[in-house]
Amino acid sequence: MNNYLIIGSGLSGSVIAQQIVEKLNGKVLIIDKRNHIGGNCYDYIDKDTNILVNKYGPHFFHTNYEDVWEYINRFCEWERYEHIVLGNNNNKIFPIPPNISTINLLCNENISNEKEANEWLSNNKNNYNNIVNSEEMAKSRVGEQLYDIIFKNYTYKQWGLYPNELKPEVLKRIPIRNNFDNRYFSDKYQALPVKGYTHFINNILNNPNIEIKLNTDFFDFKKENNLDNYKSIIYTGPIDSYFSSEGYEKLEYRSLNIVFEKYYNMNYYQKTAQVNYTGLEKDYTRITEYKHCLNQISPHTIISKEYSCDKGEPYYPILNDRNINLYKKYQLLAENLKKENIHFIGRLANYKYFNMDQAIKNALDYFENHIKY
Ligand code: FAD
Repeated sequence: MNNYLIIGSGLSGSVIAQQIVEKLNGKVLIIDKRNHIGGNCYDYIDKDTNILVNKYGPHFFHTNYEDVWEYINRFCEWERYEHIVLGNNNNKIFPIPPNISTINLLCNENISNEKEANEWLSNNKNNYNNIVNSEEMAKSRVGEQLYDIIFKNYTYKQWGLYPNELKPEVLKRIPIRNNFDNRYFSDKYQALPVKGYTHFINNILNNPNIEIKLNTDFFDFKKENNLDNYKSIIYTGPIDSYFSSEGYEKLEYRSLNIVFEKYYNMNYYQKTAQVNYTGLEKDYTRITEYKHCLNQISPHTIISKEYSCDKGEPYYPILNDRNINLYKKYQLLAENLKKENIHFIGRLANYKYFNMDQAIKNALDYFENHIKY
């Protein structure tokens, strides 16, 4: 008999499953309502072009956690990959995050070193006694000009709200560089799995004590199976769906409509893997060209355009007061089930945006602190 039930075969569920079989010698059944493993990290090779693409949007791994880096290297080969992003605003092209080149290009400056960049920033940044929204937050970091071209309309396209309608936290961490570094991430480890994320997660799950049932929704499964058979249940789906019978409202998410386009007999569509469209002249937020990742070879190319929307797959939690307070109520219900060995883990169950490294770290730590004993 399987003595652990895991709902969801994304990174969170897969890491927990691997730890249970390795450290507790347990048997695990993982169910997933989708027809594939890997959750939102799922990728596949497009048959027409032989290019590896991410079904749910591009994924770039980066981390400073030594333990996470060590962990992922147990399961597949990773290749160093430094992600470069360009911005496009009405055909003006510039590096993102903004660096000295961005300031020079967009503000007609001629800055050549860190000292001049720091001076420019301190002369151009807005000062506020008390920052009350994301517009002020962004202007306090990059000033009016860069805010208008890079952040104002892009944020509107992403969230359907202008920065002055969003809490300061949303744009709190926008990076600005006082040098020419044009890499998107500055983490110590930046890499891609050489054979893709599905291959990587398949290897995490490759153990005779892990059984996987796809196309299986938990809420149907529980009607036909006795959950008391399981020593522990680990749920990585949306927390509000689990407690739907409590009568609380639903948590809100921002979603994406990802539209793929194939171009036959075209070498490259754009210069880098990612171009962000920061103005209102295009409806989409970014275009990703997958061939740039891992220097894939094909006579053709594939891009995806991302359109932010309210409905669809739950991608980004909307962290306003309503949702934060509502999540706290769900969290209390979840906390009460811990003593019954029912655990809530991962980005949907925690109503939190996790990067992949954070999802792995969170699952490893949760296992050590709550499941192991
Ligand atoms: P998920 O991957 O969502 O897995 C949850 C699983 O549970 C799913 O497979 C789902 O089908 C299943 N499930 C849900 N409900 C049920 C149910 N009722 N019954 C059965 N199964 C169910 N991170 C980075 O580090 N770098 C990036 O570049 C990056 N890009 C991203 C781009 C986008 C568009 C998005 C949305 C996320 C990105 N991330 C990125 C974050 C990354 O996707 C997450 O860290 C990761 O997917 C979290 O894994 P998870 O297992 O917690 O959740």
